[in-house]
Amino acid sequence: MICDLHVHLAGVGAGGSGNWLAPAFQRSYAFRRVVHGLKLPSGMLARPDCDTRIAGQITAWIADSVLDHAVLLAFDAAYHDDGTRDHAHTLLVTDNDFVADLAAAHGKILFGASLHPYRRDAVAELERLIGRGACLVKWLPGAQNIQPDHPRCLPFYDALAHHRIPLLCHTGVEHTLKAFPNTLNDPRRLIPALERGVAVIAAHCGTRIFLHEKSYFRSWQAMALRYDQFYGDISAFGMVTRIWSLRHLLKSPALTAKLLFGSDFPVAPAPLSCLGPLSLRQALELRRMTNPFDQAVAMMQAVGVPDAVFARAAQLLRMPPDKQLATSANPGANAA
Ligand SMILES: [Zn+2]
Repeated sequence: MICDLHVHLAGVGAGGSGNWLAPAFQRSYAFRRVVHGLKLPSGMLARPDCDTRIAGQITAWIADSVLDHAVLLAFDAAYHDDGTRDHAHTLLVTDNDFVADLAAAHGKILFGASLHPYRRDAVAELERLIGRGACLVKWLPGAQNIQPDHPRCLPFYDALAHHRIPLLCHTGVEHTLKAFPNTLNDPRRLIPALERGVAVIAAHCGTRIFLHEKSYFRSWQAMALRYDQFYGDISAFGMVTRIWSLRHLLKSPALTAKLLFGSDFPVAPAPLSCLGPLSLRQALELRRMTNPFDQAVAMMQAVGVPDAVFARAAQLLRMPPDKQLATSANPGANAA
């Protein structure tokens, strides 16, 4: 079983999708690279079917890939401390119902909801989204203005624990979607969620990308060893700084047992930056792969990530009744 639990999706709101991208973010280098990577026609952002074209490309890649399941992530707006929406600081909205509709239409796709805990309707909306098949809730605190250790999050944690919905939360310095202080992305702020009984998956295990940045990797390791319900995903680990952190984790059975696979699509792996853990031949083979989801899986398999890491999501995600997680490996699942 191979599940990618960290796949991003974005749209401009075409066709009443409910998605939104801040104009400044649309002009950013990071976003222009994403559009280029989608291999869709130029001028696509102005087309009335833009959002469905983007979603169609991503779901087609997933359908053709070795993945058994992929969690497509919605993305809620930023909110003020008083629970009102903060339009001025919102860079991206990926609408929950837009993603839930895709999950309903595609067997491999799972619905990753995103819901700001300060919203006055947060708990009621969580229950509605569970009815639509939500398998987890995703946060990016430094983009959404979430302080995970603030007492106003506690009712939301109680609801997550009650419904056995895991929280996938970005940890570490954020580069692409940065609107609020990076200190909000400190994994230690997630301790109140763990203490209320929520399973928490720290995206990127608190690692950094650039060596001059603050790293929360040691904090993540200490917490992973201390809290049964604390995990980490290895999304966007296919780059020079993180691949050595991954090698370190794979030497520890106790820490490897806390890892889950995610690609962080549209973030693309950089195999040539990972020479050492990869041979030159492996890196060149990986670079030639055209399906980004197959490439992300093969990259992590090549550096020795065991099958259990790809399958662990089956134990954690809340599966909607109409989706069955494949529990036995399908014949193609281990092909690199
Ligand atoms: Zn991500």
